[in-house]
Amino acid sequence: MAILADQTSPIASRDVGGAIRHGLAGRCPNCGKGHLFGRYLKAASACAECGERLDLHRADDLPAYLVILIVGHIVVGAMLAFETFGALPIWVQMLIWPSFTLVLALSLLQPVKGAIIALQWALRMHGFGAPHPLGRE
Ligand SMILES: [Zn+2]
Repeated sequence: MAILADQTSPIASRDVGGAIRHGLAGRCPNCGKGHLFGRYLKAASACAECGERLDLHRADDLPAYLVILIVGHIVVGAMLAFETFGALPIWVQMLIWPSFTLVLALSLLQPVKGAIIALQWALRMHGFGAPHPLGRE
């Protein structure tokens, strides 16, 4: 980020790509070793390895919106492909698609939330940030 890369700034820039990779893996965006989540979707209060605060994020509903977007594209595309090229009875499809949607959504929620938290950490957003340059919160 251009502002954070300024050599006169006392605030060091953070590696956005590396932090997102750590977040996707459920690891601390700072050190990549400690666990990011204490429970399924609840961020740990701090990293057990490096002590970095992890509960200062404001991910809110963004991970859920992104998971809906991703899962919707995958499931609808797969349904259309099966409808075009497959010959499964409708009752089988009524069992497969809701189950596939549920499993896919639940398996993507934590990595996507981890990536959002890591992005906010890397960009020093919300509670992860340094003091506001104008002295505001
Ligand atoms: Zn850490």
